[in-house]
Amino acid sequence: MISLLGLPQDNNSSYLTGPALAPQRIREAIRCDSANMFTETGHDLGADGLWSDAGDVALADLAGKAAFTAIHSRVAALIPQGRVLSLGGDHSVAYPAIFAHAQAYDGLNILHIDAHPDLYDDMQDNPFSHASPFARLMESGRVKRLVQVGIRTLNAHQRAQASRFGVEIHEMRDLSGVAAIAFDGPVYLSFDLDALDPAFAPGVSHFEPGGLSTREVLSIIHNFKGTLIGADIVELNPHRDPYGMTAMVAAKIAKEIMGRMIEARG
Ligand code: MN
Ligand code: MN
Repeated sequence: MISLLGLPQDNNSSYLTGPALAPQRIREAIRCDSANMFTETGHDLGADGLWSDAGDVALADLAGKAAFTAIHSRVAALIPQGRVLSLGGDHSVAYPAIFAHAQAYDGLNILHIDAHPDLYDDMQDNPFSHASPFARLMESGRVKRLVQVGIRTLNAHQRAQASRFGVEIHEMRDLSGVAAIAFDGPVYLSFDLDALDPAFAPGVSHFEPGGLSTREVLSIIHNFKGTLIGADIVELNPHRDPYGMTAMVAAKIAKEIMGRMIEARG
């Protein structure tokens, strides 16, 4: 069973708020009557027993460590029931969500698709910023490999951080290795919608032109080698998505992630 879990938090965003409103928009898009419930890979997500909506973690009155504790404990409680697909929220929610998976799965690999490496040691005096989750995760020593795809915003500090943590980066300017991405063991997929070119996904806080197409992301989800055991989709900003187009992109990607989870293939 896959649990769909909403993580409505955006108080660790460095630029705009809005992603706290995203989980409900993505849920509505998944259920929208404009599309059927089959994945491209042939799984009928309309069938009983494949996934369930676990609702949102109540985060409205929480910030900082209290919010992370709430996210971590809820994700940790759902992991024994199967797979967890979290819907953010800004990318800061990935730290407690992925840490719960790293505790449950030895040798966890992370596939991180994003315009940004999110490796800042500190951003605006907030070590739990949405620009820092992968620094905190790599410092924990519980992550086997971090592979990033779509990156196009490396500065000197983040390059140094990537080198310090041994991060494997497929920068946007050279995607030649992406088709061969392969992991040994469990894989957690963290997907930031701003990895997509703003032409495909304008409903995000940080427009970063020169990004991935929706099809390129779907191709990675369908084809990487490894066992997908958990995932998140983050950084939808409904304030910049008046027609719900980007919510629909998030829903499409959520469906294909669920299909890949159902296959449970290596
Ligand atoms: Mn991010
Ligand atoms: Mn990003």
